[in-house]
Amino acid sequence: MEAVQNEKGQISIHTENIFPIIKKFLYSDHEIFLRELVSNAVDASQKLKKLASFGDFNGELGDLKVSVSVDKEAKTITVSDRGIGMTADEIKKYINQIAFSGAAEFLDKYKDKAADDKAIIGHFGLGFYSAFMVADQVEIVTRSYREEGTAAARWVCDGSTEFEITPAERSERGTDVILHLAADSEEFLETERLRGILEKYGRFLPVEIEFDGKVINNTTPIWTKSPSELTEEDYKKFYQELYPFSEEPLFWIHLNVDYPFNLTGVLYFPKLKNDFQIRREKIQLYSRQVFITDEVKDVVPDFLMLLHGVIDSPDIPLNVSRSFLQADANVKKINGYITRKVADKLNDLFKADRKAFEEKFEDIGLFIKYGILSDDKFWEKAKEFCLLKSVEEVDGANRFHTFNEYREHVQANQTDKNENVVVLYATDRKQQDAYVESARRRGYDVVLLDNVIDPHFINTLESKLEKITFKRVDADTLDKLIDKGLNNESVLSEADQTKLKEVFEKVLDNKSLTVSIESMPTDELPVTITLPEFLRRMKDMSALSGERSFYGNMPNMYNVVVNANHPLSAKVLSAEEGEAQQKLAKQLYDLALLSQNMLTGADLTAFVRRTVETLA
Ligand code: ADP
Repeated sequence: MEAVQNEKGQISIHTENIFPIIKKFLYSDHEIFLRELVSNAVDASQKLKKLASFGDFNGELGDLKVSVSVDKEAKTITVSDRGIGMTADEIKKYINQIAFSGAAEFLDKYKDKAADDKAIIGHFGLGFYSAFMVADQVEIVTRSYREEGTAAARWVCDGSTEFEITPAERSERGTDVILHLAADSEEFLETERLRGILEKYGRFLPVEIEFDGKVINNTTPIWTKSPSELTEEDYKKFYQELYPFSEEPLFWIHLNVDYPFNLTGVLYFPKLKNDFQIRREKIQLYSRQVFITDEVKDVVPDFLMLLHGVIDSPDIPLNVSRSFLQADANVKKINGYITRKVADKLNDLFKADRKAFEEKFEDIGLFIKYGILSDDKFWEKAKEFCLLKSVEEVDGANRFHTFNEYREHVQANQTDKNENVVVLYATDRKQQDAYVESARRRGYDVVLLDNVIDPHFINTLESKLEKITFKRVDADTLDKLIDKGLNNESVLSEADQTKLKEVFEKVLDNKSLTVSIESMPTDELPVTITLPEFLRRMKDMSALSGERSFYGNMPNMYNVVVNANHPLSAKVLSAEEGEAQQKLAKQLYDLALLSQNMLTGADLTAFVRRTVETLA
């Protein structure tokens, strides 16, 4: 057996003392040293298993558990494995040269970058040398799996560029990496702190990790299995494992590709309801079962950031900066793949069980709409299954149509003189009830678009679907909303109309409001408040963006429309000029405000009093 020669040497590098620099650079992410060392131990164990399966290792594999232990007195952390181990020569090659070149490359790349660029630093797999972020001396005691020609060796380095290799006492195959913690890193001696780090990065590692007497990981999380082996319960259970005490997910997608990139994972659709809640639960990104991050921006399309679950890909470069990630060809392909899988899954659900799909639409509609807004490829598929929900009910449930179905449904009655199909919508079924019911009385359908994202969604639909415009039910009078080019006759003379207008202008006493007199059917209200579509929509859109903007800061703009044909208009004209006439007009105006939910405070109180007096 070849004995280990005592040897001292210089790690060949131009920088005098690299480790203080590593330490300084990585100050925000010191904890990843444990991820790196445990991953190395897991790799060494996996490699041995591979060798055994190829028949290149015929010894006992035995229990390959990796163990992490702490000696508070000696102030050490030890990561032990029973993997392939290293010979003295291999230490020189892998630790002194290869691992070191990784560290040197890192420094070279990032020495000019601001140290607060956490994204770069946290994602850089610095490997073995990250141990020097927390230790001022690191020891390796290792023995190779090879039966012949090997002896155990010890490597020691104190964070300078000098190392020492000596023979060691060790009869068992495998490696111990012993960190002698630096004074400013003693927090890592605390059991709970270590457990926290291990659970964060290692909870799904493929080899058992023992810490404090317990195995901390699930070595076969469901994304490593084939969907055919899994039941619905398995998926739900795993969701609870990822996000304890969460509401059950609606459904999920099992991702599995190996060409042109490697990716597995399970994405869950949570119940979202109407708003973009800021959630704790995020998609987690793994690389070969090692947790990397839950900042998956760039890897997952924006509109799918609301999903939950895990993605595991060894092909996502984690050691580069954000801008590099965006330009990375694999990342782009992954993004496209996920989008396609999600669209296909939704399409399958729609086709397989339309009713169930409609019931879930409240929750998944947000994804679908967001996807339509942000991704043309998604739109191509989603336009076949995205639904519009009508206020109309069938068997106690709202009626849903696809875009094509909806066009067919309304085009006979809701096409205007320019051949545009007008989709009437409400954003608040209750508040806009008077308008909705007027529209329905004319046989028009009204859809509900009450999501925060809907103003943007409507804009997108208008640009993508041909000859369709959307108008909120209260954006104008019905004759103007769907202008069929027909004029109602007016029962009032021009002179009377002018007079009526003057009466109302006086009552409103507000120069910025416009009063118009229109000839409408007699069953429409005598006075109506309308909110012009364009301005209102702009305002709604800026509300979602959360920014203070030009439109966002504008007051509500509205018009006052008086129905010349309503009998009460004639009554206003024939009332005694002065107080009696004003009072009647004011009452009609207040009623209009009331049905738009705009009568409040002192005005509402005065209205109630006036009404009571009239009835007395
Ligand atoms: P990487 O793991 O990315 O190759 P590291 O710096 O973490 O880089 O490690 C360098 C090399 O040292 C590894 O590739 C491996 O050959 C060897 N090594 C590190 N830790 C162990 C271990 N516990 N058992 C066997 N070999 C190891």
